[in-house]
Amino acid sequence: MNKPAPTIDNHSVMFITPRPELTMVEGNGSWLTDNNGKRYLDFLQGWAVNCLGHCNPGMIEALNTQAKKLINPSPAFYNEPMIRLSNLLTENSCFNKVFFANSGAEANEGAIKLARKWGQSNKAGAFEIITFDHSFHGRTLATMSASGKPGWDTMFAPQVPGFPKAELNDIASVKKLVTDKTVAVMIEPVQGEGGVIPSTKEFMQSLRQFTKENNILLIVDEVQAGCGRTGKLFAYQHYDIEPDIMTLGKGIGGGVPLAALMATDAVACFVPGDQGGTYNGNPLMTAVGASVIEQLLAPGFLESVRTKGELLSKELLSISAEFKLEGERGEGLLRALMLSSDIGAKLVELARDRNPEGLLINSPRPNLLRFMPALNVSEAEIRQMCNILRELLKQVS
Ligand SMILES: *Cc1c(COP(=O)(O)O)cnc(C)c1O
Repeated sequence: MNKPAPTIDNHSVMFITPRPELTMVEGNGSWLTDNNGKRYLDFLQGWAVNCLGHCNPGMIEALNTQAKKLINPSPAFYNEPMIRLSNLLTENSCFNKVFFANSGAEANEGAIKLARKWGQSNKAGAFEIITFDHSFHGRTLATMSASGKPGWDTMFAPQVPGFPKAELNDIASVKKLVTDKTVAVMIEPVQGEGGVIPSTKEFMQSLRQFTKENNILLIVDEVQAGCGRTGKLFAYQHYDIEPDIMTLGKGIGGGVPLAALMATDAVACFVPGDQGGTYNGNPLMTAVGASVIEQLLAPGFLESVRTKGELLSKELLSISAEFKLEGERGEGLLRALMLSSDIGAKLVELARDRNPEGLLINSPRPNLLRFMPALNVSEAEIRQMCNILRELLKQVS
């Protein structure tokens, strides 16, 4: 029997978000193509995941080569790409130990467990981790509890206890929450889902000083801001501080499921039985991660991210002036344009549905647009994106 014609029969896909009636079939650099052959300029890149764009040749090569060699010896053994990527990450950061996971949420779960374990061994069972309003740390029960997203405290009640919320860039709000049960502070150097809000240098430095003086760990969640996104390999490097624990996700895999939990020797206190996971450090994904990090570290690459971040910033500022909007903010190629009204969702839809070429952007809050293009996006593509924005803003105003 012949199969029916390939219409979009999506009834078996669990409904978790409204999706347009199309399927994405191909990607190349900053461009996606759907099943109708329509092309989209992609300034979403899988939510800041594809840091080298779609179908990066180095990643494809790493995947193919590794797939032919060894896909999964089990986490009970070392493998070569796992070791290579661990070394790359520790040689280029202040951390000494790496545990690989499959998603940002899972890396953050590991960070929470590691901090609690450290509290058991070093701080009389302290377990509370101070996090921030509007922060986002993932969608497991513990990471939802750690997140400061409005409404998430009751969504799947009861929450995992022990995550009091402070206000970003307000050191007094952190100090107020500290008790003898406080083991750590967990922070996104740039709040991504919260609307691209950078921590100030002054705040981050006083947070590091305060936590150090009070024997409290500092955890940076760099799942979104890490891996070159802000123009340095890691976002904490903008602040001249050294955290105790860092988590990576999204960009580290360049599009494949890979994440990492990193810690200094002083804090890496897991013993056998504490932490694991079937796919942790599997060579197929870590081989891709090694290719990604090597490409980010190539001479001139991070500098080019900073240059392009400045271009995008300048362009967004001039759009803001032209249309009387509220300015822009961000770091490197993680940026937001502040609108003057709640037209974010409308613009996202118009951008996607425009012809002949669509534009993919996102609106984490109703009054702003977020941009997280591939880090190797071209200057011409940045200008093209901004001109499409101008056209759309004319349309809605
Ligand atoms: C996306 C994100 C996460 C969750 O990562 P997943 O891979 O979706 O689990 C955690 N923290 C931050 C800052 C993120 O942006």
